[in-house]
Amino acid sequence: MVAIISVGCSGVLRPDVDPSAPGLAYRQDEVAGPGLSVVFFGTSTVLISDGKNAIMTDGFLSRPSWLQLIFARLQSNHDEIDFALRQAKVEKVDAILVAHSHHDHAMDSGLVAQKTGAIVYGSASTLNIARGQKTPETQLRLIKTGQPLLAGGFKITAFETPHSPEPINVGDIDHPLDGPARLSAYKLGANFSFLLEHRLGNVLIVPSANYKPHAFDGVHAQVVMLGMGLLGKQSAEFTERYWDEVVRKTGAKLVLPVHWDDFARSLREPLVPLPRFMDNMAVALERLEALAKRDGVTIRFLPALQAVTLPVGNGSKD
Ligand SMILES: [Zn+2]
Repeated sequence: MVAIISVGCSGVLRPDVDPSAPGLAYRQDEVAGPGLSVVFFGTSTVLISDGKNAIMTDGFLSRPSWLQLIFARLQSNHDEIDFALRQAKVEKVDAILVAHSHHDHAMDSGLVAQKTGAIVYGSASTLNIARGQKTPETQLRLIKTGQPLLAGGFKITAFETPHSPEPINVGDIDHPLDGPARLSAYKLGANFSFLLEHRLGNVLIVPSANYKPHAFDGVHAQVVMLGMGLLGKQSAEFTERYWDEVVRKTGAKLVLPVHWDDFARSLREPLVPLPRFMDNMAVALERLEALAKRDGVTIRFLPALQAVTLPVGNGSKD
């Protein structure tokens, strides 16, 4: 986020990838169902449901603007949260799995939990943000890797994986974070990826674009939600290693990019890629598409706030 100071030429603000274009946009008619239902809310906030139980990641919906991020103290925006939940017809959520405690993942998770009845699963830092929002302790759980949790038909496993390279605001939040708070107060804490196993298919969610070698050895997933944030700033070699660890090794045949959008725009507006001074999505996507072609994988971008059905995995039809 340091690079935002360097805004100058108008050209760098123009997005050069349109994820709603044919060939990139998710097409329901390509998918044989019924599988799990998924709603994308931008960044790495997704809701995955089997009709009985619903699991959300992050729950970041306020999406404060760049001006607010730079100059103001941040506070969750009830109107924006309620708008997004209403548009996506979200009522009850069982669990909110929070990747890490930067604002664009964790700043709303406590409030979304209060509005949906969910339990927030996160690092100690993430739980301190939710505590600052007066979320009851009964709705807070510390993530313990190696201890899968069950929510109806979902088995959820958290993996501690690295944040994308050179993160801002490293460190922990060691006290309840009462908003409004500066961006710098949202310290990283630990970072997690999540595997959701279900009879309708397995989904691996990697919110932050980085990898730990062998972290997903033995993991099988039909679908990977692949974090793309700042991937355009990394080398081609990094991108290939990331892909191999997360997509190739898990055998996924469908990749749904997440965290590719400009997280400082309201969900009332269409999602657009991060501006060029932050990232280079065209470069990242070109590299990913070459790897996808090599491995017979399809990459598709989910629409915002709209439920779609994932392909059925595991050969189960019931
Ligand atoms: Zn982050």
